[in-house]
Amino acid sequence: MAKAKFESPELKEYPEPPALAEGATGHIRPFVASPEHQAALGFPGELVEDWQDKAVAKLGELLGKYRSLQVYLDSCVKCGACTDKCHYFLGTGDPRNMPVARQDLMRQVYRRHFTLAGRFLPWLVDAKPMTREVLDDWYTYFHQCSQCRRCSLFCPYGIDTAEISMAAREVMDHVGLGQKYCNEIIGKVHKIGNNLGLPEPALVDTLEGLEEEVKEDTGADVRFPVDVEGADVLLVTPSADFFAEPHVDGLIGYAKVFHQAGISWTVSSEASEAANFALFIGSYEQMREIALRIRKAALKLGVKRIVFGECGHAWRVAYSFLNTLAGPWGFLDPAYPVPQHICEVTHELIARGALDLDPSANDDKVVTLHDSCNIARASRMGETPGGQFEIPRAVIKASLNRFVEMDPETTRERTFCCGGGGGLLSDDLMELRVKGALPRMEALNAVVKEQGVTHMAAICAICKSQFTAVLPYYGFDNDMVVSVHQLVSNAIRLGTKE
Ligand code: SF4
Ligand code: SF4
Repeated sequence: MAKAKFESPELKEYPEPPALAEGATGHIRPFVASPEHQAALGFPGELVEDWQDKAVAKLGELLGKYRSLQVYLDSCVKCGACTDKCHYFLGTGDPRNMPVARQDLMRQVYRRHFTLAGRFLPWLVDAKPMTREVLDDWYTYFHQCSQCRRCSLFCPYGIDTAEISMAAREVMDHVGLGQKYCNEIIGKVHKIGNNLGLPEPALVDTLEGLEEEVKEDTGADVRFPVDVEGADVLLVTPSADFFAEPHVDGLIGYAKVFHQAGISWTVSSEASEAANFALFIGSYEQMREIALRIRKAALKLGVKRIVFGECGHAWRVAYSFLNTLAGPWGFLDPAYPVPQHICEVTHELIARGALDLDPSANDDKVVTLHDSCNIARASRMGETPGGQFEIPRAVIKASLNRFVEMDPETTRERTFCCGGGGGLLSDDLMELRVKGALPRMEALNAVVKEQGVTHMAAICAICKSQFTAVLPYYGFDNDMVVSVHQLVSNAIRLGTKE
């Protein structure tokens, strides 16, 4: 892909806060959803006439519905602890990308319309009415937040800018100012079943092609089944896994694991997508509709377990909300958690010796791991706290000999977003994506230089796509990024265990 024209940030040896650059990203805004994209989700096609009143009313509704939102808007003491924690601020220097400043865009409107002091003494409490200028700032800067929750980790009150940004997007959708990328994709999921708009025949064809490819490579009859009734496992995975590099190598890894462990599995053509972009636009109704496809598919196919593939925000939605959105799951086998992550499945099989892995198969690589922000700070894996960090690492370490950690200030719960999360993975935001990737690129650069790292693994489809696009802007090869199950796929010795 040709590089977009803007200056990429310079990689520094030691990360340092940027010089303030007022308005540096004021020109970066995603394309607005068309009337058709809006209508498909039940939102007004364009900005409604009385949009100010409607926006304030919707904000009021959300304040009543989500107690946390009001607490977040009321409790900031302007201590400044969050100011240098956002990757978009660190990569751009725009002070409006400081989490507290982003929150203030909503806080000012909240104060003006919902607090006594804001109504009568607006100048005293920094309160502002909802105007076109404010709405434009909302559209710009709430689409420069990937909802990664890093700032909330450092805030003494735990104020979560991600929730504020979701609420802002929900308000904007309801007055007819939606974002094209997210809303178009959600429409495709409703209509065709996945983000890519991949129809069933194309899906079947693609998976048959993968069966042939693996047979050629390994001689083994590894299946990639679609719509198989009575399979044990329904695999719900990001649609990028079906064909894009390096995602598809991960899918091949899952299939080899299931094959080797003798677990029957299937994907569903009606729920051929793990992603749930409704999270990004803050719409509970849309999120539920998307999640219900999984329930419908599980019931129709009569599966016993639901396993999610490598997708960060999909796992955040699944782990945190699947039961509320689409449960109860009493019809599944109670011996397994609902849902289960593919890393949990592989980890458990490795632990009981059901897989034969040859780590030397990856000896051409020195690998580090990028913790996906959604998995790190909005979910867990397995039975013990921190499982979301330890389980993927255990799977990787069982599959290779040379693993290196990046700076601990950038991993585990302190990980940085890749720069493309939260519904921002579109070409119109490439400048923001490249600049927002800076903190991760600096940490990667350090281990490349000092420890000879050659590859960076990820367990998130958005992270993999984002890194594939932005690595070249920092002088790295885009094939440096690998799926965790790609490493498993390389190491697994098929046919050596029952
Ligand atoms: S949630 Fe993430 S992207 Fe949003 S303001 Fe906080 S650190 Fe920045
Ligand atoms: S860390 Fe929390 S309380 Fe302090 S300025 Fe940021 S949001 Fe406000």
